[in-house]
This record gives sequence, C-alpha cells and structure tokens, in this order.
Amino acid sequence: MTDDSMTPRRTPKAPIETIGGRKLKPSTLMMGHGFDPVLSEGSIKAPIFLTSTFVFENSAAGKRHFEGITGKRPGGADGLVYSRFNAPNQEILEDRLSVWDGAEDALVFSSGMTAICVMMLAYCAAGDVIVHSGPLYAASEGFVAKTLSKFNVSYLDFPAGASRGEIDTILEKAKALAEKQGGKVAMVYLESPANPTNALVDIEAVRDARDAAFGKGADSAPPIAIDNTFLGPLWQRPLDHGADIVVYSLTKYAGGHSDLVAGSIAGAKKWMDPVRALRNTMGGICDPNTAWMLCRSLETLELRMARAGENAAKVCAFLKTHPKVEKLGYLGMIDDPRQQDIYDRHCSGAGSTFSVFIKGGEAEAFRFLDNMKIAKLAVSLGGTETLASLPAAMTHLSVPDERKAMLGITDNLVRISIGIEDPDDLIADFEQALAAV
Ligand SMILES: *Cc1c(COP(=O)(O)O)cnc(C)c1O
Repeated sequence: MTDDSMTPRRTPKAPIETIGGRKLKPSTLMMGHGFDPVLSEGSIKAPIFLTSTFVFENSAAGKRHFEGITGKRPGGADGLVYSRFNAPNQEILEDRLSVWDGAEDALVFSSGMTAICVMMLAYCAAGDVIVHSGPLYAASEGFVAKTLSKFNVSYLDFPAGASRGEIDTILEKAKALAEKQGGKVAMVYLESPANPTNALVDIEAVRDARDAAFGKGADSAPPIAIDNTFLGPLWQRPLDHGADIVVYSLTKYAGGHSDLVAGSIAGAKKWMDPVRALRNTMGGICDPNTAWMLCRSLETLELRMARAGENAAKVCAFLKTHPKVEKLGYLGMIDDPRQQDIYDRHCSGAGSTFSVFIKGGEAEAFRFLDNMKIAKLAVSLGGTETLASLPAAMTHLSVPDERKAMLGITDNLVRISIGIEDPDDLIADFEQALAAV
C-alpha cells in the first residue's frame, strides 16, 4: 500500500480540551481524556494492561527513565518503567481525576486510607505538628493520633465549624509546639463535611489563616489538604477555595457502585512529587483492573451524583415534617447562619449523605433500620444503592462516650446515603419503616 492514509498512524493525537475557545467540561472529557485508541489497536476503551514491567527502546532510554524516577533529572519519569511506579490504566485515571478538581496532577492508591497515610508520611518528620479539623474519618484520626505519634509527630485539632480567629489561635499554638519539638508545622489537614455531623470547614478562612501565620507562598508554609470524599468531585472543588491537595476515598461516590476500594490525591505537581516518590518506594498504587473500573465509573459520575442529590432532597423534604423524626442533619437544610455562609461559598450541592435523628433512642433507631426494605443496612456511602447505618453502634462504637456527646453522635442518629433508585419508591420505604418504629 502506498496511500499514506492507509498506513496506521503511530503518533498519538494531541488531547482536545477546548473547542472554539470553550473549555470542555469534565463530563465530556471522561469519555476519552488521557487515552488515544491509536496506541491500543483502535480500541475505543483502554484495555486493562496486566503487566508488571515495560520494555525500554534501548539502554539509553532505560537510563533516562531511571534518572527521572530517582530525581537525578528534574521533571520526573517520561515513560513507564515498572508497575509499582505507574502503569497505563492508572495514568489515564490520574489524568481524569485531575480534570474534575482542576488539578495539575493526581496520584491513585489502593484505598482512601493508603492515600491519606502515604501523603501524611511524605510530609512529616520527627518533631513536626499536624493541625487538623475534627472530627475526621476514624481511621484518619487514628493514623495521626496512634501511628504518627510513634514517630514523634504530634497534632492539634480544631472543630470543623471553627471561625478565622479560632484557626489563627490553633496555628499559633502549633508553631510554638513545633518550635519546642525542633520540627515544623507539616500539614493542615481538613475533612469537610465532617462525618457524621456534616459540619463544614471554612476552607477560605483556613487558607487566609495559614497565609497570615506563615507568609503567603513561604517555603515554610504547610500545605492544606482536604478529604473531599462526601461532596467531591461534583459538589465541592476545594482547590478553588484555597486548599492545596484534595483527597478522596474513591470507594465512595467516584467508584459509586460499592464494588471496589481505592483512593487518590490531587493538586499542584510540587505537592504531588514528594508523595509520588514515597509511593514509588512503598507501593500502594491501585491495580489496573480497579483503575479501569474507576474510569468506567467516572463516565457516569455526574449522572449518578446529580440523581442521588435530587433523590436526597426529595427524601429529606418528606422526612423533615414526619412526626417520628426529631431532626435532620442535611446540608440542604442548614439552620446555622455561619454554616450556611460556608455552604454558599464552597458547595454547589447538598450531597446525598445525611443524618436523620429518629425520636427515641437506640431501640427506635434499630426498629427503623431493621424494617427498611430497599435501603441496605451497611456502612460506606456514595453507591448506586441507598445505605443506612447507626454510627453510635457501628462505625463510631469505639469512640469514648464524652467525645460522642461532644460531636453530637447520639444513639438515635441514623446515617443515610441515598442512591439512584426511584425517589418515590425510596419515600415509600422510609414511610413504612418509620410506621414500624
Ligand atoms: C471511606 C472514607 C475514607 C477511607 O477510604 P477507604 O477507601 O475505605 O480506605 C476516608 N475518608 C472518608 C471521609 C471516608 O468516607
């Protein structure tokens, strides 16, 4: 064949991110971003690359790759070397996750907790202090308080709803403590909304407080990381509000089908690089099959989250006036003006995970849960199916009573994650389960 158009094109196409000056939306980019079919026999979807290692073109290319991986040459790896470092499905996933949060770079992990632990380890040295909002996901709180403390990393926490003044005070305390211990303030770590209270953190106030305490852009300024699992990436984009690193349990809304466990972080390359180096050493990258499933999930992310959010609004409207419901902890029905102000500045939707306080105590809450027919009794959230659980008796059972009381985790607080079922079917289910209480 001599016709040029008949010979296979070997160079991949440049990615299309804009059309006529219009920046394409994540929902559009999820179908192809980061993958060119030309590289995979024209396959419209990326194959799952089950390979542990990658063949170098020649020895010099091998040397160049390793110079990048080890940091001898700035700029990082410019090709794939070994699957503990990275591989095609994971790279495509990282590119697509970056799109959702408007991040320069992203890293994926085998679980949300792997992402959190590797990230914190990458930033902490003996003597350092971590400042965090509270409450955190129990395992995150445990990693800081029980594991990092073994390496002489200490922590100070502030309540999720804290004001700028309170955050200023805690940062001053943290600086003094770090100085005393011969370390630095290593990271400000947030989780918003907090679980199970749904209290929101004022990310902009944290950013302003950090800049005031350390100097804007100063080398000694700690990065602000935030666990955005409950609202992200659709309803809250923390990088737009002053956070440096956004953290996910992809197990939840991003995966969205309760069939995988994975995690990620995203942000500017300079914040990702130290974590990438430690991930290269420790491992903990997610596997190719999980990465492929997540790419499939991201194609429907907006559809799923939008539907779940609409369903939650309808279910909460029904629950709000129900005589057997004491109150709701739902971001679409906030009664505190300061929390409402944070919500208005940071969030574009109320999510589909909320708390419903059943009138009575554990016995009444148990009867409600045990009578649900559509909603499944399970921990976790963000899946296509509606889930319900009782934190005081399940996820937060080991939290000391006085801390539970302080956080408002009562025996009648039922945690709900609404899925994408028919909303009227869900309301019928809630109605009959409440009737049985
Ligand atoms: C589930 C969860 C995690 C942990 O993620 P895994 O994927 O289970 O390791 C961390 N933070 C929040 C807010 C979560 O809901």
